[in-house]
Amino acid sequence: MQIFSSPGSLKAYISKERNQGKTVGLVPTMGALHSGHIELIGKCVESNDITICSIYVNPTQFNDRQDLIRYPRDQDHDIFQLEAAGCQATFCPSDEVMYSTKPMVSLNFGPLENLMEGHHRPGHFKGVALIVAKLLNMTQPDQAYFGEKDWQQLIIIKQLVQDLNFPVRIVGVPIVREPDGLAMSSRNQRLSSDERIMAPELYNCLQLVTQQLVESTNLDQAITKGKEYLLQFPGIKLDYLEIVRASTLDHLVDEIGSEPLSVCIAAFLGEVRLIDNMQIFID
Ligand code: AMP
Repeated sequence: MQIFSSPGSLKAYISKERNQGKTVGLVPTMGALHSGHIELIGKCVESNDITICSIYVNPTQFNDRQDLIRYPRDQDHDIFQLEAAGCQATFCPSDEVMYSTKPMVSLNFGPLENLMEGHHRPGHFKGVALIVAKLLNMTQPDQAYFGEKDWQQLIIIKQLVQDLNFPVRIVGVPIVREPDGLAMSSRNQRLSSDERIMAPELYNCLQLVTQQLVESTNLDQAITKGKEYLLQFPGIKLDYLEIVRASTLDHLVDEIGSEPLSVCIAAFLGEVRLIDNMQIFID
């Protein structure tokens, strides 16, 4: 596997491969890779001749400086896993490379970012969209892969690509979970052993809420049941629990139509903030 830190050498490599008629897939990550990331790599390897994984902890998407400082990093292990997964190239740029000048552009996603992650982490999606736009321009892939774990992010990236006509297909990949249901996340390794035992309760809560929706389609009641369930666990501090239309992130007003919904949750366990979601289709 080739490892690049400068966009120039990465671009030269991609041009050479493209000139041989090869297709290119991109998997943007912040490293500290786990099986969820590797699932994205696997999907990319399946459908593209060249898989590029970017590893970059993007400072502009962190609204909390401590979260940025404490974000796990393990580049040697990442590279080992990527090689084993059949990835051809890794792009590991520095802050100086990604932000050689202070950006003036600010991407605004209106209603898509005024709720859930966007509301609770002001500026987060402006940072995400900026770095994804930079990475798409630097690599010009045919396809780029994003996890459904970050559902709101996936919808925002699709909007970015549509609004700015990036010539790329965005592929969403289902959430990879631990055997006890906890969605895999780089942040899981920061959980204490007690917090790790409690963490699957977020998944259990999502299951309870979706089950409630199937039984009664009463949105408020389903959310109330979910919140009541979590109250049993004082170590879990809920940030939000919301039901939205899966494709537009609109809040539903009383009636549920026959369309996919997304139940989204974010909560703190100690200092670690976890997110998860579950899709549901009610006929
Ligand atoms: P991150 O390194 O956390 O920025 O994640 C990089 C990509 O991997 C994003 O598109 C995430 O949505 C995706 N991802 C992270 N965890 C999972 C998971 N458990 N299942 C599926 N995709 C994931």
